Amino acid sequence: MGDRKGLILIGAPGSGKGTQAKKLQEQLGYAHISTGDLLRAAVAAGSELGLRAKGFMDAGGLVPDALVIDLLLEALATPAAAAGFILDGFPRTLPQAEALDAAVRIDKVIDLQVPFGLIEERVTGRRMSPSGHVYHVKYSPPKVEGICDITGEALYQRSDDTPDKVRARLSKFEAETRPVIARYQSKGIVVAVDGVGDPDEVYARIAAVL
Ligand code: AMP
Repeated sequence: MGDRKGLILIGAPGSGKGTQAKKLQEQLGYAHISTGDLLRAAVAAGSELGLRAKGFMDAGGLVPDALVIDLLLEALATPAAAAGFILDGFPRTLPQAEALDAAVRIDKVIDLQVPFGLIEERVTGRRMSPSGHVYHVKYSPPKVEGICDITGEALYQRSDDTPDKVRARLSKFEAETRPVIARYQSKGIVVAVDGVGDPDEVYARIAAVL
C-alpha cells in the first residue's frame, strides 16, 4: 500500500478530467475514481446516499463533504485501487483535501486548464452512455446519433449539463476548488496541463509530465 501511486486530476467542469482519467486507467492500470460517477450510480440505484445527494447535484451545487469523503475512502480501500488511483472530481473543497491527505499520499496533481469560454459548449454538448462512455455532439459524436457506439444504449444528457447549472458549477469551482489547487501548489506537486484540443493530444501532454 505504501508504494501505490496517487494522482489527482483537477479542473473545471468540462475540462476533460473524466476522459483523461479513463485513458490513464487504461494505460497505467490504476483505479479511476470519480466521485461524480459514484454519486450518479447511487442516485440511479435510489440508495440512501443517492437520495441525500440528488438535490445538491441537480442544483449544480456540491454534495456535503462528509458524504463524499466517506464514499471516496471506501473506493480507495478496494483491491482495484491497491496499485494506484486517479481521482477525478475529488477533492473539490479544502476539508476534502485535508481528509484525503490524512489517509493517503498524493504524488501529483494534474491541473487541467481550459478557458471558461470553451467550457459551456463542451459541457452542454456532452452526452452520456449509461455504461459510462462519454460523447460530444460536435467534438466526438457517436456513429449513430443518440446511440452509444460500444453498447448500443440510448445516450442521455446529464441534468446538470445545462447552461444555468454550468454557471453554478463554475462558480463553485472558483470559490471552493481553486483553494485546493493552491494547497497542492504549496506542496510543489501541481503540474498545469493545457486541456484545449483533441483528447489524444491532451493525453500526450499529461503522459509527458508523469
Ligand atoms: P462531476 O461528474 O465530477 O461533474 O460531479 C457531478 C456532481 O456530483 C457535482 O456537480 C457535485 O454535485 C457532485 N460531486 C461530485 N464530486 C464531488 C465532490 N468531490 N464534492 C462535492 N460534490 C461532488
